Amino acid sequence: MSEDGKTSAYISVDELVERIRKYHPEDDMELVRRAYAFAEKAHAHQVRKSGDPYFCHPCAVAVILADLMLDASTIAAGLLHDCVEDCEGVTSELIGQEFGQEIELLVDGVTKLNQLDFSSREEAKAETLRKMFLAMAKDIRVVLIKLADRLHNMRTLKFKTPDRQRAIAQETLDIYAPLAHRLGVYTIKWELEDLSLRYLDPDAFYELVRLVGMKRAEREQLIAQVTQELKTKLYEAGIHKCEIDGRPKHFYSIYKKMKNQNKTLDQIYDIFAVRIKVNTVRDCYSALGIIHEMYKPIPGRFKDYIAMPKSNMYQSLHTTLIGPEGQPF
Ligand code: MN
Repeated sequence: MSEDGKTSAYISVDELVERIRKYHPEDDMELVRRAYAFAEKAHAHQVRKSGDPYFCHPCAVAVILADLMLDASTIAAGLLHDCVEDCEGVTSELIGQEFGQEIELLVDGVTKLNQLDFSSREEAKAETLRKMFLAMAKDIRVVLIKLADRLHNMRTLKFKTPDRQRAIAQETLDIYAPLAHRLGVYTIKWELEDLSLRYLDPDAFYELVRLVGMKRAEREQLIAQVTQELKTKLYEAGIHKCEIDGRPKHFYSIYKKMKNQNKTLDQIYDIFAVRIKVNTVRDCYSALGIIHEMYKPIPGRFKDYIAMPKSNMYQSLHTTLIGPEGQPF
């Protein structure tokens, strides 16, 4: 969940380059440095509604893209993404001359997507728009830049008028969160949904923050305990290579369940989840068997997305269990 501290995201070019180098040591950092300097200069006298210098925004977008471990070209394009639209004298030809065709196409792609009209609220139209969006983007990195752009705009939405807040939050929920889902960028999807909820149903959102927050310490201890037990058992069973992590479910998924199934928070099965990553499909099924021996599974809650992948090609096994102290997860 984004807190207010996250809204201003000025990052120095050295720090940004350092982050990218960690996961793409071979990439062209000179390109990132030049894009940073160019965008900083182009946006020099512009100010955001928050009062921050405008350049904070492309910086924040670059940081979000770096957190997704994207390549230097995507990050350079992220830094430049608003230059053509918002800066006097900056054309896509100029971007091409300065940074080459790849960056020009990425920046152009983002600029073109900004011209799509998302005002329709019908579900059928939303699906058409999502398809158009993907088709127009051509290069998938354009969509990732657009998602990072929307995420930072959502984090700073409190500076808009209430009318605009609701309209933008609804559009985020209808178009952008499902796109993030389709591309498998779940951290962005979750944050977009939680931020949308905060503006579309603030009472429910803050009530959930309070209720879920109250149980956080308890839940974190539980996640730690379960993780430890799982590690030991899987190792004993010969699954030596695995990654285990636990997380609380995000607010919007809990909210949707409470709404759709008309339930209170106490009746929601899984307010935390544990994920186990193993190296082979065979290990997936072995791990499932071991887990079902350790904790009692709840009937009817098992889903095999390996045999039947989701429409976005997501593959895994899901199950709901009764935890060590009786809590489902
Ligand atoms: Mn932008």
